[in-house]
Amino acid sequence: MKTVQLNNGVEIPVLGFGVFQIPAEETEQAVIDAIKAGYRHIDTAQAYMNETEVGSGIKNSGVAREELFITTKIWIENVSYDGVMTSFQGSLDRLGLDYVDLLLIHQPYNDVYGAWRAMEELQKEGKIRAIGVSNFAVDRVVDLSVFNETTPAINQIEINPFNQQTEAIEALKAEGIVPEAWAPFAEGKNNIFQNEILSEIGKKYSKSVAQVIVRWLVEQDIVVLAKSTKPERMAENMDVFDFNLSDEDKTAIATLNIGESQFFSHSNPNMIKFLASNKLAL
Ligand code: NAP
Repeated sequence: MKTVQLNNGVEIPVLGFGVFQIPAEETEQAVIDAIKAGYRHIDTAQAYMNETEVGSGIKNSGVAREELFITTKIWIENVSYDGVMTSFQGSLDRLGLDYVDLLLIHQPYNDVYGAWRAMEELQKEGKIRAIGVSNFAVDRVVDLSVFNETTPAINQIEINPFNQQTEAIEALKAEGIVPEAWAPFAEGKNNIFQNEILSEIGKKYSKSVAQVIVRWLVEQDIVVLAKSTKPERMAENMDVFDFNLSDEDKTAIATLNIGESQFFSHSNPNMIKFLASNKLAL
């Protein structure tokens, strides 16, 4: 699997398996199936309420822990110095691990500075290999970077053909921060899997729409998180390393950009209040 180098030298597999919205009772099997299909990078979060089952999947996968790259994320209510210190240990316990490869602040809210200092300390103690953020506007990441010792290694943001984030990607790369794409398939919105432009491109290479999208991201050195509970789709989404998109293909994909989130705006005050009220029952 191709990897991307983070700003502290850690290598992250360019394609990861995301477990958002996989019910807890299906997660262990999904993780085992994904690892069997060849995924070595798993993306979970405190808020996904399936860290325990991700841990069982890892343990029962038959693949050594050191060969896997595991990410989890700190939920809003735990975004503070003490919140990270306490809740990160909870994440490790649920995952059954003594370190994670990547820890992210899940949303750009609450005491991100306190949280970041705790994450820097935990990284120095060897409990986290790389630290980063998610859903941060570029100015917020730069602010965090400028006033702290450690520059975030990653910003995990929504990137898909309808929300291409071209400017943000360029700005993150200029800061040495790797962009990581969540919802690469826009969770199927706007009939993405039937999209004519993407289907036509796929036909040229005997590839599916999903494969065209993953390839389009990988070619930009964007780390991609793809989610499926179906083993055949897990394999399909990984089978993207034997073709190249042409300039013409990329120009055609650029025309699909609507330039806005397919989900919600992170600067919508009501959404911030809603997310903040969403307490975890961990
Ligand atoms: P996604 O990967 O864009 O889309 C997943 C959907 O696409 C599922 O309904 C899946 O259905 C379907 N699908 C997958 N492969 C397919 C294929 N080859 N053909 C047809 N349908 C296919 O959405 P996502 O799960 O929201 O995003 C991916 C990961 O990003 C998450 O799991 C999570 O790890 C991360 N994420 C992070 C944030 C954040 O705030 N940081 C937010 C959202 C997501 P089946 O499962 O039925 O195959």
